[in-house]
Amino acid sequence: MNNLKNLRGTVDLLPDQLIKWQNVEKILLEQLARASIKEIRTPILEMTELFIRGIGEGTDVVSKEMYTFLDRGERSCTLRPEGTASVARALIQKGMSSNPLQKLWYMGPMFRYERPQAGRQRQFHQLGVEFIGYDSVRSDVEIVALAWDVLSKLGIKELNLEINTLGDVSDRLNFQKSFLKWLEINKNSLDLDSQNRITKNPLRILDSKDIQTKKTLENAPRLFNFLSEKSHKRYSDFKKQLEVLKIPYVENFNLVRGLDYYTHTAFEITSGALGSQATVCGGGRYDNLIKQMGGPNTPAIGFAIGLERLILLAGKEFEVPRNTDIYIINQGFIAEQLAMDLSRKLRNYDLLVELDLSGSSFSKQFKKANKLKSKSIVVIGEDEATKKEFIIRLFAQSDNGNKEEVISLENDFGLEKWINNNLLAK
Ligand code: ATP
Ligand code: MG
Repeated sequence: MNNLKNLRGTVDLLPDQLIKWQNVEKILLEQLARASIKEIRTPILEMTELFIRGIGEGTDVVSKEMYTFLDRGERSCTLRPEGTASVARALIQKGMSSNPLQKLWYMGPMFRYERPQAGRQRQFHQLGVEFIGYDSVRSDVEIVALAWDVLSKLGIKELNLEINTLGDVSDRLNFQKSFLKWLEINKNSLDLDSQNRITKNPLRILDSKDIQTKKTLENAPRLFNFLSEKSHKRYSDFKKQLEVLKIPYVENFNLVRGLDYYTHTAFEITSGALGSQATVCGGGRYDNLIKQMGGPNTPAIGFAIGLERLILLAGKEFEVPRNTDIYIINQGFIAEQLAMDLSRKLRNYDLLVELDLSGSSFSKQFKKANKLKSKSIVVIGEDEATKKEFIIRLFAQSDNGNKEEVISLENDFGLEKWINNNLLAK
């Protein structure tokens, strides 16, 4: 029989790696809670139609990257490639009138059939934030500041914020007319992929990574020059407010983002430390999405952070596991029962407790406690069991040396006092 293996582009995260994930996630979630952003969880599996309508047929994601299949009821289903369309669907379905303004986050796996490489997987994870119902420039600034701050809070260096504006729908249509004319004339100087996009998704050509195409595009009409006065003003207000907050940015006129639904503000945060998959966060305004999906006219803006790339960027300090506070060494029939009881009591405190279940010799159990660098140990052997007490020992962390105390198993108060004085004391 062939060996069973995970699918290409998917990854097992094992306990040692997850220490970093959990430490990073903890900070992310704390930051979001502090900004009063609420969590939403939507299904991983959705109707294929949702993404075709929500993301757009001409996008790479929908045309090449989706995991789509028929279920047993012959319905076309897709593993979500991103989170925004599902959030929009869920809100529309619930009815938005009673709650027109919402700040939401989601986190979880996404699926795209791409060529796997460092920082690019077929099952990957995103943390996304969506501000629904907000149309002011201030909401754009708050979204960008939030993304910037969560990344900075993790101590990530070499961050670059790139911004652009895509204008509104009519700005884009005006631009597209003259861009299409230019594309027809310059078609032969473009790479094949870009040539194919002319009919499907011309705006995306601006985002081409092909060097020759990039060069040719330098002479293309600029979307920026087709913006209405109102769109111009919006964009310059946005930049001014970023300056007030001292958030550094660079303008990138070719930043169009992969999905169809964006309007006005588009942004990406990249890091020089990431190599070729440099974008850790992408976001933008999508004022038309909810209406286009059958909901009320609702402006919105959001971003998504790629967690695999974020983990690559986060420092070694996040790889440090929390120390065991108390390791319970125990042996003998009664002692083992008492130890079990004690471990349950100890879990009522904010302590990391490990009950040794090995039944092996004391010296082996001591070794294990040592290896874990446990701050303290509890010893219950036959002697202690008959006396209904246990030895609790704190290992020297500073100058005051190892401390040992004998506590009665029935004296919860004595135990609590010891914990407060020795383990929980700041
Ligand atoms: P890229 O240009 O890298 O393909 P994208 O524009 O397709 O990114 P978005 O749809 O904006 O990406 O998703 C937001 C973030 O999710 C990206 O900036 C990236 O950090 C992460 N991401 C996207 N696709 C993948 C993937 N296949 N594997 C790992 N992370 C990904
Ligand atoms: Mg992509």
